[in-house]
Amino acid sequence: MRRKMAAGNWKMNGLQDNLAELDALAQGYGDAECDILVCPPATLINQAASVSGDSIAIGGQDCHKAVTGAHTGDISAQMLKDAGATHVILGHSERREDHDESDTDVRLKARAAIEAGLKVVICMGESLEEREANNTLDIIGGQLAGSIPDQVTAENLIVAYEPIWAIGTGKVPTLDQIGEVHDFIRARLVRRYGDGVGLSTRILYGGSVKPDNAADIFGVSNVDGALVGGASLKAKDFGQIITALA
Ligand code: PGA
Repeated sequence: MRRKMAAGNWKMNGLQDNLAELDALAQGYGDAECDILVCPPATLINQAASVSGDSIAIGGQDCHKAVTGAHTGDISAQMLKDAGATHVILGHSERREDHDESDTDVRLKARAAIEAGLKVVICMGESLEEREANNTLDIIGGQLAGSIPDQVTAENLIVAYEPIWAIGTGKVPTLDQIGEVHDFIRARLVRRYGDGVGLSTRILYGGSVKPDNAADIFGVSNVDGALVGGASLKAKDFGQIITALA
């Protein structure tokens, strides 16, 4: 019922020559039976959108909550769209940490993005301390309530569960731990938005997804795909993850 999605987050990696990886991805996997999204740095969005054609969607990694104005160095949702993006990642833990983004900031950015016609990938996840204190579900519940706006549909919302301690570390939660959080997010989405949006919204797992663990993770209930950092930079690695999903 839910179409699977493999999303790549290049973070602050990628110069002109990385577009060749995107081209290879589009050639090799563009007709895969899942949605593919690549979020390069903002400087590459425009070219990425022309390299990837229709087979791979292109997204930003953040946007401002305002439409226009005196915000030096920032990028609006409309600008991302104008450059060729169809999606934007919001509330990534690196943004929450490096730029002090609160749930409210994320929610306002998501509203601006949706109003500009973008689809949002809203990230949430607990720290190691929060997990060890058995607070994971409380933290996720709070981030979900605070970061996702009311005006969402199953088409414009994608949720990503990314435990902070699993990002870029090679550490991955157990499959039971992933399943517990994804089932919880699903239940909260259904409670808040009803069966229509709640059951149709995709929930991605992110945090050290690699070619060799992707198939197991994709077998977990309510895992509808992955948000991949490091392993999305090379077409070969990301392609293997796409193959495990599709
Ligand atoms: P990683 O990053 O795959 O490199 O762990 C995931 C993410 O931050 O989206």
